[in-house]
Amino acid sequence: MNIRRVFCTAVLLVCSLHLAAKTTFEIPSWTKPFPPFRIAGNLYYVGSEDLASYLIVTPKGDILINSSLESSVPLIKKSVETLGFKFSDIKILLISHGHYDHCAGSAALLKLTGAKYYVMDADVSVVESGAKTDFQYGNHPEMQFPPTHVDRILHDGSTVSLGGTVLTARLTAGHTRGTTTWTLNETEGTRTLRVVIVGSPNVNPGYKLVGNKSYPRIAQDYKHGFAVLNSLPCDIFLGAHGGYFGLAAKYPKWKAGDKNAFIDPAGYKAYIADRERAFQAELARQQAAKP
Ligand SMILES: [Zn+2]
Repeated sequence: MNIRRVFCTAVLLVCSLHLAAKTTFEIPSWTKPFPPFRIAGNLYYVGSEDLASYLIVTPKGDILINSSLESSVPLIKKSVETLGFKFSDIKILLISHGHYDHCAGSAALLKLTGAKYYVMDADVSVVESGAKTDFQYGNHPEMQFPPTHVDRILHDGSTVSLGGTVLTARLTAGHTRGTTTWTLNETEGTRTLRVVIVGSPNVNPGYKLVGNKSYPRIAQDYKHGFAVLNSLPCDIFLGAHGGYFGLAAKYPKWKAGDKNAFIDPAGYKAYIADRERAFQAELARQQAAKP
């Protein structure tokens, strides 16, 4: 089943329950361990079956993208150590966006590693308030997480450099105000491979694209985000959830010896086109329904 749809349904269910107490929702594929492996160059997968985390290993220390849930932190640690690396070598923590399934574990992870936390400007308030300032989920305790101090505020186009590796933060907002798509280059033999880690192009259930008082620019931001995503050259297609890029289908090919299994420029284009159509359809539906 499509993970995104499962997540959307889950969020809808959680939101419709109006739970008084904090009972963060987790679906099984989010917490199911997944074998860690090297994607290309110094880039490794250290996430669960669906919550993607990436480790970039450099001679000056390591970068981690996405701390995921609070319960993900020991799983990520185990994956890093299984690969033969030290958890305490993580010097910089980055995220795809400020939703609990990608950043609830940040406070614990930063405490364990001593890493610094770099977050896109427009998601800083959400991260530092534990989602209390989230435009959609600010009043939903079940979507909140431990407030976490940000050490460096990123902007669209900011670069993060460590030990010879450079990542670029691209603002692809809408899903959250600061949703970030990460790009970097990896060298594999004589080839340079352009990596895109998609932040999230999805419109969650209940998102108001028309007349949204708490996020008036939301539709404009999604449109800008799709323009950016359509412009990015991509060889290796990755994202915040394994479901975006077909991790479950590609990993067995990789394990069977196809080390190019994650090189998928056509899959990237098709995914972004599909998500843009879904956004446009939802926008049209809401515009037609407007009184
Ligand atoms: Zn999200």
